[in-house]
Amino acid sequence: MYKAIFIDIDDTLLDYVPCCREAFDMALPEHPEHFDLFFQISGRLFSEAKHGMHTIAEVMELYPKEFIATIGYPDTAVDPFKHAFRAAWGKTHTLVPGAREMLERLQAKGYRLFAASNSFGHLQRSRLEQAGILPFFEDTFISMDIGYDKPDVRFYQEALRRAGLQAHEVLMIGDSMTTDVIGAQNAGMDALFFDRKNDSLLKIIEDL
Ligand SMILES: [Mg+2]
Repeated sequence: MYKAIFIDIDDTLLDYVPCCREAFDMALPEHPEHFDLFFQISGRLFSEAKHGMHTIAEVMELYPKEFIATIGYPDTAVDPFKHAFRAAWGKTHTLVPGAREMLERLQAKGYRLFAASNSFGHLQRSRLEQAGILPFFEDTFISMDIGYDKPDVRFYQEALRRAGLQAHEVLMIGDSMTTDVIGAQNAGMDALFFDRKNDSLLKIIEDL
């Protein structure tokens, strides 16, 4: 029924929390105890972005700034921390259980596969490559390259245009009801919600 599948990256293919922890520890090795605070600040800002309060590009600047100010470091520490975190983030690649097997199955069934994520293109591709799953994807649609963030329908429309596909030919899979499911549906696509707490990747694709 579908010709292609778009798949979210964080918390669908790559495990966000351990990746975040690892990048944080590489960026600020002297203060591992500040991770919870960092996670809380960045989590709130990313969540606000899902609801249109900021763009992802803005959040990428805001969270290092707010975190550094909150721990009482000077402003001059913002850029070094931000760059160190980004460089470290590009190296993180903990897979969600079943991610590789899901991609193998979908590929074996003949679906064209594309990644669809809100972030920096070069970092997300580096992470997929290091996780050993980049070759499954025909292309990667990442918000900073596309020019719009999920759930903006223009993100999905541009991704469809680049893939040469119609909305009804594509299924979107992701763990966010807002950015992945509702965003894709607003663009006329079908979407499959990956509820990490209650489902496994292999189970949700059983009927495909
Ligand atoms: Mg996600």
